[in-house]
Amino acid sequence: MIWNETYECLSRKEMRELQGKRLFNTVERVYYNSPFYRKKMQELGITPEDIESVEDLAKLPFTVKNDLRDQYPFGLFSSPMSEIVRLHASSGTTGKPIVGGYTRKDLNIWSEVMARTFSAGNCDRGDMFQIAYGYGLFTGGLGAHAGAERIGASVIPISSGNTEKQIQLMTDFGTTALCCTPSYALYLAEMIDKMGVGNKLKLKAGFFGAEPWTEGMRKELENKLSIKAFDIFGLTEIIGPGVAYNCSEQNGLHFNEDHFIPEIIDPNTLQPLPAGEVGELVITTITKEGMPILRYRTKDLTSLNYEKCSCGRTSARMDKIRGRSDDMLIIRGINVFPSQVESVLLEFSEAAPHYHLFVDRINNTDVFEIHVEVRPEFFSDHLSQMLNLKKKIAHRIQSVLGISAEIKLVEPRSIERSTGKAKRVTDKRNIYNQ
Ligand code: AMP
Ligand code: ZN
Repeated sequence: MIWNETYECLSRKEMRELQGKRLFNTVERVYYNSPFYRKKMQELGITPEDIESVEDLAKLPFTVKNDLRDQYPFGLFSSPMSEIVRLHASSGTTGKPIVGGYTRKDLNIWSEVMARTFSAGNCDRGDMFQIAYGYGLFTGGLGAHAGAERIGASVIPISSGNTEKQIQLMTDFGTTALCCTPSYALYLAEMIDKMGVGNKLKLKAGFFGAEPWTEGMRKELENKLSIKAFDIFGLTEIIGPGVAYNCSEQNGLHFNEDHFIPEIIDPNTLQPLPAGEVGELVITTITKEGMPILRYRTKDLTSLNYEKCSCGRTSARMDKIRGRSDDMLIIRGINVFPSQVESVLLEFSEAAPHYHLFVDRINNTDVFEIHVEVRPEFFSDHLSQMLNLKKKIAHRIQSVLGISAEIKLVEPRSIERSTGKAKRVTDKRNIYNQ
């Protein structure tokens, strides 16, 4: 069953015409409402009139994460604050978060694309949705919530964590669809097994995203929870979850192309790459009002396929995310940049600017350890002094990055010095490989 036949099944020609019109409207909107984009376009010598069709997309300027940081908090908004009805945020490369602003129409688009996502997973008003993504500034919880309500499902807004309660409600309420990060789903599955309540579950579908996961994890989740597991993709800068979604063929993620135009570029030359080639995903929003974004460089590596899917949808399909072209890590669903850790460590005169991040996945939970080198003049055999420093750093990491880390203080000069580009991260999880 296709929830919105009009847009998911347009011919390529119809889709490109629609995109062309909407792109022009968006470019006009940002040119006249966002000094940031107006300046960028003026620098390139273009005006909205230069955008006659979607073929002109490549004339437009790119937007990068640093632009959002420099324009923090609201510099990229194209609507007055009186029109903005919701704000969300995600972590940026340093202390400042990335902010997204939504008008009422934007929230409507968001719930529509999430509703498509759930319909593509064969869910409808007969389903009981347990939303175990975090609610709050993170887009996952409220984004999934709105989509589940829009298809008329019954929604349990439990948010993330509190695993025993999750399992209790799942069995007592008869949850049929679970929404959370894939790693949390695996943890839930393990706990369900331990509690021996697997036979009481009514689950049929899982909508997992916000972090990369492998086909191996998909199979494990499908077997352990007796569900079909769907990949959902999105990012705060664009709208949150609902940018692209799996249909029941599970062969790529359908892009909501009537709202977001995808491109793949070579991250070095910045030139567009043909369909099928792996490169950096670039997204342009074409219906958003609050914070429209032109050619956002996601740094996510993937490829696009424009062939009609056997489910009947004609929208472009994005391959699973294959990696990142920057150093962002996603730990327990939270974006972590080594530069954020560095900026926290710089606050401590006791810490040398040498550190190493270790990430692993043990019992389906991400383990995050930071080795911090202590300056010789501060390094001491006094256990209590070292313990105190460790606690202070752990506390700051938690409050700045929004994630807990095990801090290990190491002796002066024990972290390997590099002669070239410093290698500051060891990630043993292998999350991007099949
Ligand atoms: P955020 O804005 O905090 O939601 O983070 C967005 C980033 O999370 C994306 O740019 C991706 O790197 C990652 N992400 C989100 N969904 C997925 C997914 N389904 N598979 C792989 N990575 C994902
Ligand atoms: Zn399909």
